[in-house]
Amino acid sequence: MKGASAGQAHLGRGGLRFNPVLLKDNRQAFFDEVIPHEMAHWLVFHLANGTRLKPHGREWQSVMRNLFGLVPRVTHRFDIQRSQPRPYRYECGCQIHHFTARRHALVVKGRRYRCRHCDQTLVYSAFENL
Ligand SMILES: [Zn+2]
Ligand SMILES: [Zn+2]
Repeated sequence: MKGASAGQAHLGRGGLRFNPVLLKDNRQAFFDEVIPHEMAHWLVFHLANGTRLKPHGREWQSVMRNLFGLVPRVTHRFDIQRSQPRPYRYECGCQIHHFTARRHALVVKGRRYRCRHCDQTLVYSAFENL
């Protein structure tokens, strides 16, 4: 996978996907944290017989703590400059826009951007990460 996400669990099909750029740059952290994180999603899904629980809810946190002995975190701290230079996600009425840290900082200071297609003001929705 690409972008700022380190990994993702494809629950129904049982596959785990990882970001090769971030893996290469953060090999130890991947084995210590990212792989257990995604494995915990996979385990919880199958232990719950396919019921969709909250992704990082009580069950997932308990697998992270009790099985892997890890603090359940939902964001990583890798340098994403190389893999995702525009990690800030904005939404309008018609699509998702991705902003750089610099552009996002201008919005925080009060600057507004509009979508060229639907003319709605772009609203910050998430910092994409894990
Ligand atoms: Zn997760
Ligand atoms: Zn739009």
